[in-house]
Amino acid sequence: SAFSNPAFDNHEQVTFCRDAATGLSAIIAIHSTALGPAAGGCRLWSYASDTEALYDVLRLSRGMSYKNAMADLRFGGGKAVILKTADFQGTDALYEKFGDFVDAFHGRYVTAEDVGMSVAVMEKIARRTRFVSGLPKKAGHAGGDPSPKTAFGIFKGIEAAVKFRLGNDTLRGLTVAVQGVGNVGYFLCAYLAKAGARLIVADIDQARINRVVDEFGAKPVALDEILFQDVDVVAPCALGAVLNEQSIPIIKSTIVAGGANNQLQTDADGRRLLEAGILYAPDYVINGGGIINVASEFYGDVDEDEVMNRVAAIGPRLTGIFQEARDSGLPTNEIADNQARRKIAQAKTPTDQN
Ligand code: NAD
Repeated sequence: SAFSNPAFDNHEQVTFCRDAATGLSAIIAIHSTALGPAAGGCRLWSYASDTEALYDVLRLSRGMSYKNAMADLRFGGGKAVILKTADFQGTDALYEKFGDFVDAFHGRYVTAEDVGMSVAVMEKIARRTRFVSGLPKKAGHAGGDPSPKTAFGIFKGIEAAVKFRLGNDTLRGLTVAVQGVGNVGYFLCAYLAKAGARLIVADIDQARINRVVDEFGAKPVALDEILFQDVDVVAPCALGAVLNEQSIPIIKSTIVAGGANNQLQTDADGRRLLEAGILYAPDYVINGGGIINVASEFYGDVDEDEVMNRVAAIGPRLTGIFQEARDSGLPTNEIADNQARRKIAQAKTPTDQN
């Protein structure tokens, strides 16, 4: 059952959405609305089972609560998954139906892009609900594809980690291994190349590799070798659970700082990284740039320059986490989790008293 799923964490609401006419099967999970509407993207993915999809959406939505709290946003945490079943067809009608389901939450859930989604799909969803972000950018306003902002935040986070661990003020001459050069990884490569870093990359999509080889002189390596390169920084920017009992002992880099969600297979892998002498930038802190962009689009309260300032603040925020981890001897993921839980608990207090 949902309640006994290992990723269930007292979620406020979990809704299974099914529309036989379009073939839509989706799950929308609201982890917390303590800090505001539960915001988090929608992932389109082919799952081995419904239980696996449920596990993913529960874990991702809790992650969004923590991510939004750590980015100081007026957002709680939620997430949606659309199940890419064998007969899945991404028709307009299917995405419109998903929009109806989102709308039925009357603003308690706000959706946006995640893996497998695009601005064009968000526009289809927006035909049925206004509780959607990541829509095309309007002149003078924040918005649009969040990936470049996510990448900018990761870039600032890598700079902060490099300063903290290696003492370098710049990335010039350093080498970064980027796993996955899709929406986020591509823009990250652009920032890194501009800063004078050398790039090693891997992706399952040859066209995406070619793009970063041609544009930034990146060196491609095999998929199963990218995390274990002798480099200054490893940046996982594909999918989750890549940091685990098997991979951590053979990672050569002393910094792991990338954009993928849920990089740790289990919470205990944070301690494994610490014990292996690897400085880990907690994923939901370093990859908060996209949701900062989404929040400014949704609330319409700040311009593009201010969004960039807020995203750049990810650098000093991570430095604070690194310092607290060093002083306490705790892993960085535990420091971040504790900070996020405190923020959510503080926000809950007034409502609970009412
Ligand atoms: P994307 O689908 O555009 O890119 C992912 C890339 O990884 C693709 O090019 C894919 O081919 C590649 N890939 C998949 N499996 C791989 C493997 N085993 N080895 C190497 N490459 C592999 O997705 P994205 O939007 O760039 O997101 C990447 C990650 O960042 C995801 O974990 C996502 O949840 C996270 N994230 C994205 C955003 C955003 O703004 N898009 C924000 C926060 C977090």
